[in-house]
Amino acid sequence: MTHFPTVWLLVFTWTLVACTPSTNTEIAARKKTAVAPIDNQRLSNLAQEPGTWLTGGRDYQQSYYSPLGQITADNVSRLGYAWHYDLTSEFGFEATPIVVDGVLYGSGPTGTVFALDAMSGRELWTFTPQIDNDFVRKVCCGVVNRGVALWGDKVFVASLDGYLYALNRNDGSQAWRVDTFTDRDRGYTITGAPYIANDLVIIGNAGAEFDARGYVSAYDTRTGEYRWRFFTVPGDPKQGFEHPELEPAAKTWDPTSLWQVGLGGTVWDAMAFDPELNLLYIGTGNAAPYPRKLRSPAGGDNLYLASILALNPDTGRLVWHYQTTPGDNWDFTATQKMILAELEIDGKQRRVIMQAPKNGFFYVLDRLTGELISAQPYANVTWASHVDNATGRPVETGQAEYFNEPKLIFPGPQGAHNWQPMSFNPDTGLVYIPAMEAGVIWTMPEEPFEYQKGGLNSHSLYIFTTPGEWGLDSALANTLPPLEVLGAGQPDTTIRGFLRAWDPVKQTLAWERDTSGPWTGTMNAFWNGGGVMSSAGNLLFQGRGTGRLAVLDATTGEELHSIDVGASMMAAPMTYQIGNTQYVAILTGIGGGNGNDYVPGMAAYTYGNQGRLVVFKLGGGEVPKRPELQHEEAGQEPPSLPRRGTEAQVALGEKLFLRNCAKCHANIDGRGAGIPDLRQMDETAHREFREILLEGTRADRGMGNFSDLLSEEDVEALHDYLIDQAWQVWEKQTQGAEWHKPAQ
Ligand code: CA
Repeated sequence: MTHFPTVWLLVFTWTLVACTPSTNTEIAARKKTAVAPIDNQRLSNLAQEPGTWLTGGRDYQQSYYSPLGQITADNVSRLGYAWHYDLTSEFGFEATPIVVDGVLYGSGPTGTVFALDAMSGRELWTFTPQIDNDFVRKVCCGVVNRGVALWGDKVFVASLDGYLYALNRNDGSQAWRVDTFTDRDRGYTITGAPYIANDLVIIGNAGAEFDARGYVSAYDTRTGEYRWRFFTVPGDPKQGFEHPELEPAAKTWDPTSLWQVGLGGTVWDAMAFDPELNLLYIGTGNAAPYPRKLRSPAGGDNLYLASILALNPDTGRLVWHYQTTPGDNWDFTATQKMILAELEIDGKQRRVIMQAPKNGFFYVLDRLTGELISAQPYANVTWASHVDNATGRPVETGQAEYFNEPKLIFPGPQGAHNWQPMSFNPDTGLVYIPAMEAGVIWTMPEEPFEYQKGGLNSHSLYIFTTPGEWGLDSALANTLPPLEVLGAGQPDTTIRGFLRAWDPVKQTLAWERDTSGPWTGTMNAFWNGGGVMSSAGNLLFQGRGTGRLAVLDATTGEELHSIDVGASMMAAPMTYQIGNTQYVAILTGIGGGNGNDYVPGMAAYTYGNQGRLVVFKLGGGEVPKRPELQHEEAGQEPPSLPRRGTEAQVALGEKLFLRNCAKCHANIDGRGAGIPDLRQMDETAHREFREILLEGTRADRGMGNFSDLLSEEDVEALHDYLIDQAWQVWEKQTQGAEWHKPAQ
């Protein structure tokens, strides 16, 4: 049985399907739209142009809230299809488009960009960076892109292989390009969006599971001239420090730390810039190896991992820092989206920054000083009992110490919330969080840690509390105590997803909706709910893996409308107005994190996962669907090759698979967008197995070259392992075992 669409070619070109010529009304509407330069003044006066969506989160506050109110609870049942624009990548789309001066700008995997007439969908221009395919294998969580930034007369985007591009807004031509990587042989990639602060464009990177040392770089928006760089973790103190903030940071690390591994802290997603306070906020990630005792044996907070940092954008100097997870052992990144807001707390107006990072606590900080105002759990949290308000530090429970014995820990490394944008609605005063409830069982590998340059270096093992090869049916699970034992006295281990409305002042749940869809108990449950957007129509929008765009009452959470989009969604929607019409737009296509099984019930299973921008308006019709895919009944025939290799070779193959392949092929059975089930390789794949791995012959389809990480013998062992796995599936199938049926 395959859950995988038969076509997964990745062609980095854009095609236009929906295309209508400009009408007189459209031209008149566009003439009315004043084209003004994009600068701090315009950013600060965005209230003057409610129809514009100027940054990833619409405004400098990154609120994912629109003041448009044409679409309301009373009429949203009439919201329907306006037009669409087809994209060709099947990797999955995470970006929220930007609409300014009548033009919609969107981006997709590897850093492709498209500009459309926002009223008609007419294509104005496209841009495709020529990327080095060697970087495709260096992604932890899918070949994705989280968006563009606009400033002056330019559009900025970063490519997967580390280049920052400035494109001219009017025609997409390249104004300049810079290489933002300090070391192209390490595990650096970029999936995040650039952010703008004054006339600088700021870009971070990803790769903390590999051997990246995190940093952000600032460039002049006009010329691309390099201005400053801020490293989020120190390098080896013996080599000196690139900037003064690294000296106090180094005191929180063992002097014998594994400096050669880079030690992460990557800024792979959120930033925010407050033009009034002139502060740039960046969120930092985890380190590799995950267990602190391996990377910094003497312990310590390991600054500035898992932190929110406020920088002076003019100088790149640190103004304040707040660490959410000191000495992180659990991939608890603080890279999640940050929202700037004014809240009345204890009778005082406070300028705050809010974040719901992976670690499960919702933080409200004074964004001028970094002072902790409050932090409370918005999901099941067992690693810490609470955050001490006096010290600002979490109080750990010991439940998360997996170093000597396996432990069930909430949240898991996917976090209680991940990159999916949350939204703050100033009318309701609520923050809407796409939240996940999934603890994992963590344990340490038996073998000692060995640094692998450019490879995965996280060096810990975990499984989810779900049946399946990446969960309770895994070989690893057989070596662990049963879930009943590990879960005794712990929260409910049923994996679920929720849309939670959080009161940031009271730090309490206002309401929640279970968004698990048909997948309660499996990993699809927590990825089903995408990023969110709210509006002045008292509405809350969320795309789902099922292919439904849900519209809820922002006050009560009641579902008011649900549109069958015919495509799985995870990106946050946005809304804009042209002329007298309010539109809602969303990029479709799922992928990214590990865990999206292609299973019945998911739109990507039925219609495939080719990207598409879909736009809606009041009075619109039904969304046109792609043809349904034919799914082969798998397990009809035994594997084409006989079992081979010694037990030791198969075991080596499994180890190599977990280290090198599992991040994309995850639980081997084809998770994620466009990633094949390696137990069902066809004859060509078997024949070309060695070339695919060691010569990169399928790099253009997303399968990178592993010749720097794997030897000929390794490849042989991997092949032996995969053939053995194919036989195991066949044996289970023929014995009638339901090895891969999603829980209902
Ligand atoms: Ca990570």
